[in-house]
Amino acid sequence: MRLIVTCEHATAAIPAPYADLLAGARHLLDSHRALDIGAREVCRVLEELADGVVYGECSRLLIDLNRSLHHPELFSDFSRDLSPHEKKKVIERWYTPFRSTSLAAVRQTIARHGMVLHLSVHSFSPVLNGVVRSSDLGILYDPKRPGEKEFARHLAKEMLETDRHLSVRMNYPYRGVADGHTTALRRLFDQESYLGIEIEINQRLLGDDRGRTAVGEILAGALGQLGSR
Ligand SMILES: [Zn+2]
Repeated sequence: MRLIVTCEHATAAIPAPYADLLAGARHLLDSHRALDIGAREVCRVLEELADGVVYGECSRLLIDLNRSLHHPELFSDFSRDLSPHEKKKVIERWYTPFRSTSLAAVRQTIARHGMVLHLSVHSFSPVLNGVVRSSDLGILYDPKRPGEKEFARHLAKEMLETDRHLSVRMNYPYRGVADGHTTALRRLFDQESYLGIEIEINQRLLGDDRGRTAVGEILAGALGQLGSR
């Protein structure tokens, strides 16, 4: 099994020319609105297992790397009012390189090995709009792709072997076919060569480095088991 990992919401970085967009709202830079807290550290643990790991380099408060270019939430409340010319510049400098690097890695891995597992790693806020999300981890896939469904089931099972208290749910807290990076790549590659799986981790588990490493190791251990079969 060959693995490419992407981390769309890895950072809260707002590139200098756009820092003013957040004037008065800088407290958001420490929040889930700016980044997927802990996701980068989980991906770091996966680096030794993966053929490639691609990290987003700017905050979703500037542009959301997990949205299609046509999506109404591609730009945030803070960047929505940039001029069309400025938006084009942001896309060219921050969005396109991330998507092209990921696509090239996926394409190259398929060319070399016939198939790829693409893991897009995210974290979610334990409380959203007053609703508590109690599950620890979501595995998102396209139910119309039997290979993805089967892989998701095996992955959940392997993780539970390591920690039987973990609560893992399928296509939670979002649908696997919602707009996103894996959904975009499924349009380019058939299910024989491409498995697109999104991992959503409850930020409750990712509060500190120890928690982040622990989740990364559970995931890496499960992937290692599946790969060695
Ligand atoms: Zn995310």
